[in-house]
Amino acid sequence: MSPRTVDILLPLGLDAPYSYAVPEGMDLVPGDLVHVPLGTRGMVGCVWPGRGAAAPVDPAKIKSVKARLDYERLPPDLLQLIDWIADYTLAPRGMVLRMALRHGESPGVARERVGVRATGKSPGRMTAARHKLMDLLADGFVRGKGEAAREAGVSPSVVDGLVDDGALETLVLPPAPAAERPDADHAAPQLSDAQEDAAAILRAAVAARTFAVHLLDGVTGSGKTEVYFEAVAAALKAGRQALILLPEIALTQAFLDRFTLRFGVRPAEWHSAVGTKRRARILQGVAEGEVRVVAGARSALFLPFPDLGLIIVDEEHDPAYKQEDGVAYHARDMAVVRARLCGAPIVLASATPSIETEVNARRGRYRRLALPERFGGAKVPGLAPIDLRKEGPPRGRWIAPRLAEEIAQTIEDGGQALLFLNRRGYAPLTLCRACGHRMRCPSCSAWLVEHRFRRRLACHHCGYQAPVPEACPGCGAKDSLMPCGPGVERLQEEVQTLFPAARSLVLSSDLTGGVERMRAELDAVARGEVDVVVGTQLVAKGHNFPGLALVGVVDADVGLGHGDPRAAERTFQLVHQVAGRAGRGAAEGRGYIQTHMPEHPVMQALVKGDRAAFYETEIAARQEAHLPPFGRMASLIVSATDAASAERHARQLAACAPRVEGVRVLGPAEAPLAVLRGRHRWRLLARAPRAFDLSAYLRAWRAAAPRATGNLRVAIDVDPLSFL
Ligand code: ADP
Ligand code: ZN
Repeated sequence: MSPRTVDILLPLGLDAPYSYAVPEGMDLVPGDLVHVPLGTRGMVGCVWPGRGAAAPVDPAKIKSVKARLDYERLPPDLLQLIDWIADYTLAPRGMVLRMALRHGESPGVARERVGVRATGKSPGRMTAARHKLMDLLADGFVRGKGEAAREAGVSPSVVDGLVDDGALETLVLPPAPAAERPDADHAAPQLSDAQEDAAAILRAAVAARTFAVHLLDGVTGSGKTEVYFEAVAAALKAGRQALILLPEIALTQAFLDRFTLRFGVRPAEWHSAVGTKRRARILQGVAEGEVRVVAGARSALFLPFPDLGLIIVDEEHDPAYKQEDGVAYHARDMAVVRARLCGAPIVLASATPSIETEVNARRGRYRRLALPERFGGAKVPGLAPIDLRKEGPPRGRWIAPRLAEEIAQTIEDGGQALLFLNRRGYAPLTLCRACGHRMRCPSCSAWLVEHRFRRRLACHHCGYQAPVPEACPGCGAKDSLMPCGPGVERLQEEVQTLFPAARSLVLSSDLTGGVERMRAELDAVARGEVDVVVGTQLVAKGHNFPGLALVGVVDADVGLGHGDPRAAERTFQLVHQVAGRAGRGAAEGRGYIQTHMPEHPVMQALVKGDRAAFYETEIAARQEAHLPPFGRMASLIVSATDAASAERHARQLAACAPRVEGVRVLGPAEAPLAVLRGRHRWRLLARAPRAFDLSAYLRAWRAAAPRATGNLRVAIDVDPLSFL
């Protein structure tokens, strides 16, 4: 008789599940996690919903499931989400599953409910299998039952036999510690009328237990957080779970403090800086429904919530939600998909919604909840333009005289100033005065950026680092290398020269000391211990600096004009968010924006504080050019270690693109970042009408194309954010 079989999806670069035999007496349902043998090792896979008859397997060759993990099961909506993302992004299903299992590299006791340990009594009868197991457990430690069998390479029945014999004892591990639950009524705030209107709609949406997307659209400081906390409170009262996604959670400790003030306990935190033990505990708590609220980075989207009643995506416009490596997915968009699959409302919060979200709100697909004013009536600072063509600083300096005067005044008044420049390091380019040689990365088509604090040149694309050479590698001249252009470190130097008495600080994501140091420095700024902050986009992320009175955008043109279709949007969002850091406390805020093109529509909108004008112009431009969200796009990057094969394959790929009315394939052309980590890159872009199923098209294309063999690789990105 042929054994019962089950489809198991493995977290590997495979699309289809494998068949395994189910041992006698084991009951498995889709979503169960199981240990299975694979080659000479074992791994954890997931029981996958059957899709009709699997290919017939030779019963003699089929391997058996070894054990089932006891408490963790992926809920049906998560299985559907994995399928959905795989279909949409064209990533192998197994790689998407891997994002949901990533926290489980070492399945052990923590992932099993029943543990075993040796009692000290010898077994009555010894076999080779029993010997292996007793050896393994000789150290007296508790191991998960399935884990012990797997490690010893014996069947689970051997464990049972030894338990019956009295040589081993089983221990039923206690359930996850009843996490101190957030209390919905711990400290409910007095909401303003506008906040209350929005909160009432969200509470009703949570109670309705149906999918609906809300855009919580409020200026910086309008109290969006308090409003969505009301939705979280409603989910708690309904006994359901809530997920809050934040773009930069490791740095938003202030958020956790606010949550604690509101709900009495901290939320479970989920991001890469959380240790593995803690992650295992949170995972178990989430799976058992014990953990009610998770605040996390994009990977939290793949946690096995059995009863998710609400998703919040804070700062929904933030590009950090897009993952580009591996499975190329946008966590905000996939959060909307998960909300739909589990029938829950979702809230997208932002002061500068993405064009996609804004258009969805205008079309009525998302419900807009507007908070047009700052809480408590503070004003969002206006931005005055400084035309660098007319009143720029002297050569080799970057702070215009007018801005310098304002900084001086601010410091004198006891306020803080923030200078924003989205360039890490000391100088974006280093060049030889004698021969013109430019220092470039040996494995990317990119300049090396000098980092003076670390005394190194670094590539921001691949992480390559080298000391600054004493002699020019081009001509051998000594002391001839000179920095060109400003980075935040150089700007701080200028601040120190201009205001020698001022306490200044650089805030940038690459400072030594990591997250801990950054948290400490953000705290120092919030406490008023710094007079002038010089920061990259890091400072645009929702921080609350009560003493900040002045914001100076040092070069508003940095991101514009690279042929990137999202450049205008990104510049608007960054500058608007940075300006929004000022004037949140008692001090009235002021802002200056240095630019070479004050007439540019983005600068105009920023200066006039006319958000609507920006959206009008940008939406019209996108519509005109059939750019997202009015058309769909995908990018295909063909890469190889030699330029000729990358180009050849890209051309072959282009030649077999299916011809479909309305779809245009652009390229191939060398990618703007032509070499990355030593790989030569060629790019193709596919453009299609808005309602077109681009994923299906790409799948047909891939099927028609020659296989990428050897070191050739084709990376597909549906809805790309970056066009490098
Ligand atoms: P946003 O997220 O929209 O930028 P926040 O939620 O950070 O705004 O709120 C801005 C400030 O106003 C915060 O310091 C917050 O504590 C305060 N605040 C907002 N709403 C209330 C309220 N209803 N009662 C008291 N303080 C509030
Ligand atoms: Zn590099």
